[in-house]
Amino acid sequence: MTIRTRFAPSPTGFLHIGGARTAYFNALFAHRHGGQYLLRIEDTDKSRSTPEAVAQIIESLAWLGLSPDAPPVMQSTREARHAEVAHALLAAGKAYRAYETADELKAMREAAQAEGRPPHYNGYWRDRAPGPAEAEKPFAIRIKARREGSTVVNDLVQGRVEVRNAELDDMIILRSDGTPTYLHAVVVDDHDMEITHVIRGDDHLTNTFRQCMVFDAMGWARPEFAHVPLIHGADGAKLSKRHGAVGVLEWRDQGVLPEAALNALLRLGWGHGDTEIITHAEAQNIFDIADVGRAASRMDYAKLNHINGVYLRAAEPARLAAMVAERLSPDAVGLARIEALMPAMQERAKSVLELAEGARFALGHGAPPADEKARAMLTEEAQGRLARLAQALGGAEWTKPALEACLKTFAEAEGVKLGAVAQPLRAALTGSLQSPPIDAVLAALGREEALFRIAAAS
Ligand code: GLU
Repeated sequence: MTIRTRFAPSPTGFLHIGGARTAYFNALFAHRHGGQYLLRIEDTDKSRSTPEAVAQIIESLAWLGLSPDAPPVMQSTREARHAEVAHALLAAGKAYRAYETADELKAMREAAQAEGRPPHYNGYWRDRAPGPAEAEKPFAIRIKARREGSTVVNDLVQGRVEVRNAELDDMIILRSDGTPTYLHAVVVDDHDMEITHVIRGDDHLTNTFRQCMVFDAMGWARPEFAHVPLIHGADGAKLSKRHGAVGVLEWRDQGVLPEAALNALLRLGWGHGDTEIITHAEAQNIFDIADVGRAASRMDYAKLNHINGVYLRAAEPARLAAMVAERLSPDAVGLARIEALMPAMQERAKSVLELAEGARFALGHGAPPADEKARAMLTEEAQGRLARLAQALGGAEWTKPALEACLKTFAEAEGVKLGAVAQPLRAALTGSLQSPPIDAVLAALGREEALFRIAAAS
C-alpha cells in the first residue's frame, strides 16, 4: 500500500504556522514512507474562500519547499462526485430525504436547547416515507447514523478515542440546494484521493467521528488518523497575532530562511530528545508521527531567531547576497559589495532582514548620512587621525588580512588602541557605529570608495 497524505487547507486567509506545521508533518510522514503528499484546497465555502488566499497558500508552501507531489485538488470541482455519493447512500437505504425548512430546523434546535438536550436533529424523516405533500418540496439528504454502540478511533497521536453513537445525529450530507456539506466532501475526497493517513489539527478530532459514519456507510476503509495538538504562545494561550508573526509569509518577510522555518515548525510538537537543530534531510530519516506529543506546543520566537541564526551561518554567502539584493535592489557595484560582505555578516545575523539593513551602507557612492553617535565620534582629533589613516591605507594591499594588519600598525604608530581608529573609521565608512568587522567593510567597499568616504569625513 502506498502511503498517501494530504494537507487540506480552507482558503479563507493566509497560511499560518499551525497550517504550515500540519503540511510539514504530512510531507515528512509520506516521504519517510516512500509515499505521496498531496494538497487539497477546501474551497467549498464560497462565501469565505478567496483566490488570493489560494494563491497565498500555494506561495507559502512553495517558499517552504512543501509544494505537493501532484497538482492541488480543488474541492469545489468535485461537487458532482460528492452529490453522487450522497445519492448512492440514499439508494442503499443508508441515507434519507429530510424535508424540514431552515426555520423548522432552527425551532427544533431551540426546543432541544430549552430542554437541555444537545441540538440534534430529531430523526423525523429517518423512517418515514415522503407523502404527496413532499413531492415538490426541496429536501436535504441525511445520513442514517448508528444509534447503538460507539465509534472508536485509534488516533496515532491521541490514542484510543471513543464516542457513543447516541451523541452523534443524522447529519446532512447534501443540502437541499444540492451542495455537499463539508464533513461529507472531506470523506469522499479522502477516499477518492486514496489517502491512507489523515494528519491534521486536533480541532478536527470531533469531526472524525462524523466522517467515520460516511466511510462506514459506504463500506470504505477508514484512513488512519493523527490529530496534532494546537500551537500556543509563550503564555499558554492559543497562538495569535499578539504573540508575534503567525503567517508563513510574515516569517519570510521578516527574514527567516525557509529551512530554519521548517526546523522551527518541526520542533512545534515533535521532538527528538532535546536536539534543537534538525535539518530537513535529517527529519526525513527520523520523523515518526508517534513522537508527536499530546500537549499543545509553545511557539518561542527567541528560539526561532536562534534557529534562524544557525541556518544563516550555514548558508551559502552568494545565496544570502541574492536575498539581500532582492530587498535592496543594488546596482552591479552594490551587489559585488554585498557579496563581499556576506561571509563576515552572516556570522552574527539573526535574519535576512538584519543582513539587508546591515548591508545598506554599502550601496551607492559616499556614506549614508552619519547618525548622531557616528557624528559624535568624528571629533576634530578623530578627523585628523582619519586623514593620516588615509595616507597609510593608500599604500596597503586591499585584502582583509592586509587591511587588518595595516590598521593595527597604524594604531600602534598613533599610540592609541585599535578602537580609537576603528570607530571613527566605521563612522566615516558606514555612517554608524554598528557595522560588520571594519576590515570586511574596507575590503567590500574597495580602495577608491573607502578612501572617498574617509576623505569626506576628515
Ligand atoms: N479544511 C480544514 C481546515 O482548514 C482541514 C480539514 C482536514 O484536514 O480534514 O481546517
